[in-house]
Amino acid sequence: MSRRVVVVGHGMVGARFVEEVRRRDPKGARIRLTVLGAEPRPAYNRVLLSTVLAGGLSAPAVELHPAGWAARLRVDLRTGVTATAIDRERRIVRTDAGSDVSYDELVLATGSRAWLPPIDGMADPNVVTFRDLADCERIIDLARPGARFAVLGGGLLGCEAARGLVARGVDVTLVHPKPHLMERQLDGGAGEVLAGTLRRLGVDVLLGRTAVAWEAGAGLRCTGSAVPGGELVAADALVVAAGVRAETGLAADAGIAVDRGVLVDDRLGTSDVRVHAIGDCAQHSGAAAGLVQPGWEQAGVLADLLTTEDPGARYRGTPPVTRLKARDVDLATVGEPGALDGPGAEVLRFADPVGGRYASLALRGDRVVGGAMIGLPDAAASMIQFYDTGMPAPADRLGLLLGRALPGAPETADPGHLPASAVVCRCNTVTKGALVTAWRAGATDVPALSRATRAGTGCGSCGDTVRGICAWLAESDPPVISPVREEGAA
Ligand SMILES: Cc1cc2nc3c(=O)[nH]c(=O)nc-3n(C[C@H](O)[C@H](O)[C@H](O)COP(=O)(O)OP(=O)(O)OC[C@H]3O[C@@H](n4cnc5c(N)ncnc54)[C@H](O)[C@@H]3O)c2cc1C
Repeated sequence: MSRRVVVVGHGMVGARFVEEVRRRDPKGARIRLTVLGAEPRPAYNRVLLSTVLAGGLSAPAVELHPAGWAARLRVDLRTGVTATAIDRERRIVRTDAGSDVSYDELVLATGSRAWLPPIDGMADPNVVTFRDLADCERIIDLARPGARFAVLGGGLLGCEAARGLVARGVDVTLVHPKPHLMERQLDGGAGEVLAGTLRRLGVDVLLGRTAVAWEAGAGLRCTGSAVPGGELVAADALVVAAGVRAETGLAADAGIAVDRGVLVDDRLGTSDVRVHAIGDCAQHSGAAAGLVQPGWEQAGVLADLLTTEDPGARYRGTPPVTRLKARDVDLATVGEPGALDGPGAEVLRFADPVGGRYASLALRGDRVVGGAMIGLPDAAASMIQFYDTGMPAPADRLGLLLGRALPGAPETADPGHLPASAVVCRCNTVTKGALVTAWRAGATDVPALSRATRAGTGCGSCGDTVRGICAWLAESDPPVISPVREEGAA
């Protein structure tokens, strides 16, 4: 008898969980799937919204699946339906569509929501968050050439939004309350270099400003020690990118343990054995999510467990690696915030603010545990490789800092020199070795490699590397082509 699994949330991780279940149980013999998605459309690649905002992709191009996908996979997909309550005793999910859905196992993949600061004016129609495709479409609609935008929040999303809006010919002021940008990932020096790079690209960056009100028709009112009487940032529209909060309300209301996210163990189980949580809404080992790679890894582990394909599967955490997706800004960071100023860390730094370059690395016992690179793609690739593999750092620290310690690194190197363990596609955790295996199994062009391994289907930043590996394999390991038989030959 198949078990009924209900998934709440049809975002990047809920959709991936469905794929992972059907990879293991293609006919639905073990699992019947019902998916409830609050958004009115089927799942799309949220990570690529910054590229949509910058004009690099259209909305249909970021859809995750072709029409008819759910029906083909025997999935009861209900879009535009919000789960409103969980009755854990009767194992029922209530919805705003008036229908109750019963479950044997419930998977929460409710993601996160944009946080709005508690200041006046946030209900104005020209104030938009940056979380979903509807937000993105609204921003594009407001971003007519010559329009003036304020972007509130100089984290990863705020920087991407500001860069994207400038590319649309809009006047942009990026307002950030802290003394430097992206303070969760960057130290002061790196933040300064990033601000300089954004300024050169046309973004007006204001630091140390706290927003106190949005004044419709005028702009964003701010205070800060640099502006004793306060100041008005003149703007027609405001994009709020001031942080996200895990969507935990449904779980908390049902009495399931939550902290910053829904608390889960290595089996992605919550405090109720029948309820699981994955993706941005889940909190594993104290680490709040917010990146797609952990969520996609969790989706695979939970699919292993619920289909009983691998009852020993466990999720042990994902080392954080972030990249800014903004044209002409090459920025990557590894490690937990604070790795660079933790006690006992050996810290290496190089700064070239005029050239828009910055490198910092934190080592502990010869292992790279944190770092940030701006404008140094080779060094960024090498940093990520040392961080991922835990390889001991060489004695030549300068070579390490500047990315000369490895014969090759994924983004830049001759693919032949890359070790098989090098992670090429970060979002999907695909190594060079996995690409080579897929090639040898018959996936002998880029689309086929992507279908076989999923490389390149997340943020897309590994595209050049996958193409490079494909070209290298075509030379070093050419596909065996069956000899064409002559018509009528014996
Ligand atoms: C602009 C932007 C750029 C990003 N860039 C990157 C990046 O470069 N790299 C990276 O790793 N990550 C990036 N992220 C973060 C990444 O998108 C998230 O980590 C990822 O989407 C998490 O997937 P999820 O399925 O957990 O949540 P989501 O994708 O947010 O999906 C959750 C879904 O659940 C639905 N839902 C919520 N509550 C209910 C309910 N009660 N009933 C029914 N449905 C419900 C929501 O409507 C939503 O559709 C970016 C995010 C944004 C917004």
